[in-house]
Amino acid sequence: MSERKIQLLGPIEIRQLAEELDLNPTKKLGQNFVHDPNTVRKIVKAADVTASDTVVEIGPGLGSLTLALLETGASVTAVEIDPRLAERLPATLVEQGADDADVAVILKDAMTVTVQDFVDSGRPLPTALVANLPYNVSVPVLLHMLEEFPTIDRVLVMVQLEVADRLAAVPGSKIYGVPSVKAGFYGSVSRAATIGKNVFWPAPKIDSGLVRIDRYADGEQPWAAELLDREQLRREVFALADAAFLQRRKTLRAALSGHFGGGQAAEQALRDSGIDPTLRGEKLSTEQFVQLAVTSLRNDPRGAQ
Ligand code: SAM
Repeated sequence: MSERKIQLLGPIEIRQLAEELDLNPTKKLGQNFVHDPNTVRKIVKAADVTASDTVVEIGPGLGSLTLALLETGASVTAVEIDPRLAERLPATLVEQGADDADVAVILKDAMTVTVQDFVDSGRPLPTALVANLPYNVSVPVLLHMLEEFPTIDRVLVMVQLEVADRLAAVPGSKIYGVPSVKAGFYGSVSRAATIGKNVFWPAPKIDSGLVRIDRYADGEQPWAAELLDREQLRREVFALADAAFLQRRKTLRAALSGHFGGGQAAEQALRDSGIDPTLRGEKLSTEQFVQLAVTSLRNDPRGAQ
C-alpha cells in the first residue's frame, strides 16, 4: 500500500498527456476522459473502496480514475484495449505520485479478460469493479466481468445515463428490460449520482450515471437456492429474458412459445411458476424469471441452449 501523496489529473494534465500522445479520442472506443478530480473522488466514494480492496478498472485511459483508486491505498489492475494508453499509463501513475507496486495494466479487450490473465500476471483476483466504462460496450463488459470474476462483490460503474436507468429499473417501468433482469441476477442494483457532460474531454452528447451492484452472497438471493447447477440456471434465466423482451408488446405466452416449443407448453410453464401468461415480460421480476427458469429446467433438465 502506497503512502505517497497522489496528485489527481485535471484539465491541464489531461491536455498535456493528449498532446504528448497525439491523441485523437475515438468514439468507437468510447474515449471520453474525466478531467475533474471531484468526479473521480465521487466515484471512488460511491464504490466504498478501501485499502483492503483489490480493484479491477476497465478502460483506465489516461489514468484519472486509476489515481483516485490508488489514493485510497487499494491495489488496482487496469484492463485497457488501446496500446498507446496502456503503454503510457504506468509512467503517468508514478509521475503523479503512485507506487508502481500497487498497480498493473493488462493490455486486452475487457470482453475477453479472464481469471487466468490475473493469475498469469501475478495479480490478486478483484474484490471490486470500478470503472468509467466505454459506452458502446458497457452492458456486455459489465455482465462479462460479473460472470468471469465471482470474487467481485461490489461494482460501481459510470455509464450513459439512459443505460444507468435501465440497469436499475424496476419491473413495470417502461425502461425495465434485459439489462435490468441480467444485472439483477447477480445482485442488488441501485442508481447513484448523475454526472454532467462537462467533466469529460471530449464532452459526450449525453449525461452519465453511476450504478452500483452489490453481489448476492450464496443463499442471500431473494429466490430460494435450488438444487440446480448455477451456470445452467443463469443461462436459462438469460435466455428467457432475451425471449420475453424481444417483442415487448407480446404476452409472455406468445413471446415464450418458441422457447418452450409451443404456446400451450409456455402457458403451462408460466402457470406452474405462478405467473399469469397474459402478462408482458416487463412485469416480471428477476425472481420470477428465476422461478420460470427453475420450472423450465425441471421439465427439461438438459436446459436451454
Ligand atoms: N477511465 C478513464 C477516465 O475515466 O478518464 C477513461 C474512460 S473512457 C470512457 C473508456 C476507456 O475504455 C478508454 O480508455 C478506452 O480506450 C477503453 N476501452 C474501450 N473499449 C475497451 C475494451 N473493450 N476493453 C478495455 N478497454 C476499453
